[in-house]
Amino acid sequence: MIKAVIFDMDGVLIEAKDWHYEALNRALRLFGYEISRYDHLTTFDGLPTKKKLQMLSAVYDLPVALHDFINELKQLYTMEIIFAQCKPRFNHEYALSRLRAEGLRLAVCSNSVRDTIDVMMEKAALKDYLEFTVSNQDVTKPKPDPEMYAVAIQKMGLMPAECLVVEDHENGIRAAKAAGAHILAVRETTDVTYGNIMKRIHEIAQGDLA
Ligand SMILES: [Mg+2]
Repeated sequence: MIKAVIFDMDGVLIEAKDWHYEALNRALRLFGYEISRYDHLTTFDGLPTKKKLQMLSAVYDLPVALHDFINELKQLYTMEIIFAQCKPRFNHEYALSRLRAEGLRLAVCSNSVRDTIDVMMEKAALKDYLEFTVSNQDVTKPKPDPEMYAVAIQKMGLMPAECLVVEDHENGIRAAKAAGAHILAVRETTDVTYGNIMKRIHEIAQGDLA
């Protein structure tokens, strides 16, 4: 039986893909670099900024000495965009409040940094429904490594099979699978509805009975 729902953040609860893309490019452009939309969608999306910068240095000639500064600027620009654009969404507030009312425990595991998660969950009015959030600063390895989901499941004192992970990205799905959790794969934030989540929970329950 499912006792907890663990959400990825970007692309699941927050439509932030473009925000991270814009913020990093704004920082990179100061030094004459840029990630194309194609590379973003096929290679970089969903990875932590540090990892993206390592990849840019390996493939292009971005100096490693600039990483910390670019990373700081990127976080600053991300915050600016969040403050301007991150708003509550009815389908998410409704879904999380109903799930909580039905006794399900809720958490978020995201490859984003702690500050970004805190501000996004606050601005989206979802913070109060969550038991806790796990950021890339709370683990040694980000997704696709299963550590983040394993940490969350352990923190709740549950078995992996009692947890449903909602993910939009291949890296996150791999992480959740490796952690042993059930998965609801979504394409976009609008797919994250109370109805879709309950449908998946019932499917899992049927499977357990069969
Ligand atoms: Mg995602």
